[in-house]
Amino acid sequence: MFSERVVNVGNVIIGGNHPIVIQSMTNTDTKNFEGTLRQINDLADAGAKIVRVSVRDMEDISSFSKIVTYSKVPVVADIHFDYRLAIEAIKAGAAKIRINPGNIGSEEKIKKIVEVAKEYKVPIRIGSNSGSIGKEFRNLPRYQALAESVLKDVRLLEKEGFYDIVISMKSVEVKENFLANKYLSEMVPYPFHIGITEAGVFEDAAILSSVGIGSLLINGIGDTIRVSISGNPLKEIEIAKSLLVLLGFENGIRVVACPTCARTEINVERLAYDVKSWIEGKTVNRSITISVMGCIVNGPGEAKHSDLAIVGTKNSSAAVFLKGKLYGTFKNCELKDVLLKLIDTI
Ligand code: SF4
Repeated sequence: MFSERVVNVGNVIIGGNHPIVIQSMTNTDTKNFEGTLRQINDLADAGAKIVRVSVRDMEDISSFSKIVTYSKVPVVADIHFDYRLAIEAIKAGAAKIRINPGNIGSEEKIKKIVEVAKEYKVPIRIGSNSGSIGKEFRNLPRYQALAESVLKDVRLLEKEGFYDIVISMKSVEVKENFLANKYLSEMVPYPFHIGITEAGVFEDAAILSSVGIGSLLINGIGDTIRVSISGNPLKEIEIAKSLLVLLGFENGIRVVACPTCARTEINVERLAYDVKSWIEGKTVNRSITISVMGCIVNGPGEAKHSDLAIVGTKNSSAAVFLKGKLYGTFKNCELKDVLLKLIDTI
């Protein structure tokens, strides 16, 4: 059970029982219209359903308005400090705006943003992180302070009759991140944008995001995800997609493999990589698990849950199991064709 309410971001629906939406953010200069548009469309081709762009000044607005016209996916405007930029971004065609009310300033300014967002039917993501906790909450445990800060902003929007809200609280501390999201998810019906902020370079970000995002998703929290990495945002999509497929939240093929031991009859690692390369780019309309197991002693039993299993046997051949039943024994050179054929029958 994910969020009770849903929010429309352009033609993408976030929340409820809708698929979890992968998003990312450009790191080009927004004034560079062509470069930013190219990056957005590359991200869209890789699997991003929404892309966020920083809008820092009025000059960015004119580029932003062209970007939204030509983008393949809805574009979110990321605004800090200046409420007028939020208003102009909405008028320029933003599909959603991200603000941190804490740095926008007075309630009056926030009300002005809400008024225009209502008129244009544009949702607002209320973003907060551990650096923007309201003074009045500083005596609470940090996770609670983070959540209460956001809740205060949510109540402000609700007071204005505005409910197209997406919640986001991020921390680089995975446990704090988890507790804050869990705490607030029990208090509000809105969709949650989740992720680990400042997660670092690729390897570290992959681990932190997997734990941070994964722990929330398996608890039914999180409607849209962003994996933050320092580097090419296309890598964010790579991690996000793998995460969703491996956890079974998105249709796709996951390849699991045994850790190998003295009983291994085949090179499990090489075969697992081969299988991954054979299925690359293959789309399926359900979750499929393929197991690569090193020996016939334990392999079939351990791979019983899999749709397909390749189990090493003596004589450089492999036994293929379909839904736990032996399908046949094949030479290595035959495996690719057998596997691809069987995937289509599942
Ligand atoms: S499947 Fe066989 S080779 Fe792989 S870890 Fe289990 S016992 Fe070892």
